Amino acid sequence: MNRYKMDMSLSEGAVDFIDDPRFHQLIAETPEDLPRCREIFAKALDKKPLSIEETAQLLAIQSPEGLEELFEAARTLKRNVYGNRIVLFAPLYIGNYCINDCTYCGFRKSLRTAVRQTLNNDQIVDQVVALEDEGHKRLILVYGEHPKYTPEFIAETVKTCYATKSGKGEIRRVNINAAPLDIEGFRIVKEAGIGTFQVFQETYHRPTYAKYHPEGTMKGDYMWRLNAMDRAFLGGCDDMGIGVLFGLYDWRFEVLSLVAHALHLQNTYGVGPHTISFPRIQPAEGMNLELPYKVSDADFKKLVAILRLAVPYTGLIMTARESEAIRSDVIDFGVSQIDAGTRLELGGYSEKQKEEQALNREQFQIGDTRELDEVIHWLLTRGFIPSFCTSCYRLGRTGEHFMEFAIPGFIKRFCTPNALLTLAEYLEDYSSEKTKAAGYALIEEELKQLPAEKQIGIRARLHQIKEGQRDLLY
Ligand code: SAM
Ligand code: SF4
Repeated sequence: MNRYKMDMSLSEGAVDFIDDPRFHQLIAETPEDLPRCREIFAKALDKKPLSIEETAQLLAIQSPEGLEELFEAARTLKRNVYGNRIVLFAPLYIGNYCINDCTYCGFRKSLRTAVRQTLNNDQIVDQVVALEDEGHKRLILVYGEHPKYTPEFIAETVKTCYATKSGKGEIRRVNINAAPLDIEGFRIVKEAGIGTFQVFQETYHRPTYAKYHPEGTMKGDYMWRLNAMDRAFLGGCDDMGIGVLFGLYDWRFEVLSLVAHALHLQNTYGVGPHTISFPRIQPAEGMNLELPYKVSDADFKKLVAILRLAVPYTGLIMTARESEAIRSDVIDFGVSQIDAGTRLELGGYSEKQKEEQALNREQFQIGDTRELDEVIHWLLTRGFIPSFCTSCYRLGRTGEHFMEFAIPGFIKRFCTPNALLTLAEYLEDYSSEKTKAAGYALIEEELKQLPAEKQIGIRARLHQIKEGQRDLLY
């Protein structure tokens, strides 16, 4: 079933890098070995990506002692590579028409009770204004898969977001979560100035993939999806996001597969994925699935820590699918981005807040419904710097250049200053009094830890922000 005359060819030399028998064997036959794990922690802390075997070794950790060391290593690596910043974004659902029938999704074609809508230009503007008025600077646009949602359509919606300004507000980075495109399609959306293009494989296990994605649908084609990020790269999108919908199959197999995917991209194109997402499946309208592989909270925490160590330069995204309690527990040792103030209902940001989600208008149920200001206050009280920074991508520090992260001092030179400046913008323009007090207190604390010369420069910029200037990036 071709949309918009899509070229259904895979990238030249496309390979299936998921080695099922080997992954299963590693999971079944790798015993816990703490001395070996300690060597692997040291390698990860040296910011070297882990191999499949090394990752399997970490998956085998069961003892309380081993788990504590695993969490501690992940916490340390996170602080070393990312500092204490947490980047904030909001998802914006553009349209929920869909030709696919993924059995876990509230947008699936066969779900007759779903209320279908595609936001028109004015409606997108309304949503973006509402998001900017809350203080958001970074969006991820989400689409079902449908002939309406061509690359040209996606590009137009991206441009609308960038062009919409409200007061001092603006959107500085638009990421995409949409169906896989052909190379030309990726080129078209890239030209609209997108940040990351995300495609989640959902499950890398072929038989499970076939179970949840009916044959004969676009999404039923496993290789078309597995090869998506290769085509994205060839179409010029060097900023790629991969992910798994956890709960469909054995989480340990999925973690090895995510690492295999990251290694494949790194080895083939010299650029690993920019982000990994690890949504756990949530209740959706009319969902009546038996999920034998549901991931417990304890395993979820473990999988995030292992991913943190295995792919040191890849950002980890934890969404509002998770509750505040889980987010509190997991954020310390691996996560670098979260969404906040999230509304999944199409048009939901400009409407008055509802107590209950209307599941027939939304993709799934969310766990964390707090407003952006509450989330920012929560981060501040936990010692994190909420950041709206978009600097790297706007100054061309993406793809292989992003690896400059490896250079010692990068965080102190760029990331922390940019985080503090974008936080100050938020505090000046949008925050509650309580958050403003906590925010400036944290800014002071952070400044004290920077070299004197850097402090002077940042203080000057903070002053400019108070005077009304915006977007002063390093
Ligand atoms: N339609 C496109 C696709 O499937 O790739 C992109 C958008 S889809 C709306 C975004 C992601 O939502 C999917 O990749 C899937 O991982 C996730 N998702 C779908 N149903 C979900 C559920 N019930 N709970 C949690 N996440 C879900
Ligand atoms: Fe459609 Fe994506 Fe939902 Fe599948 S996950 S039904 S492709 S919106």
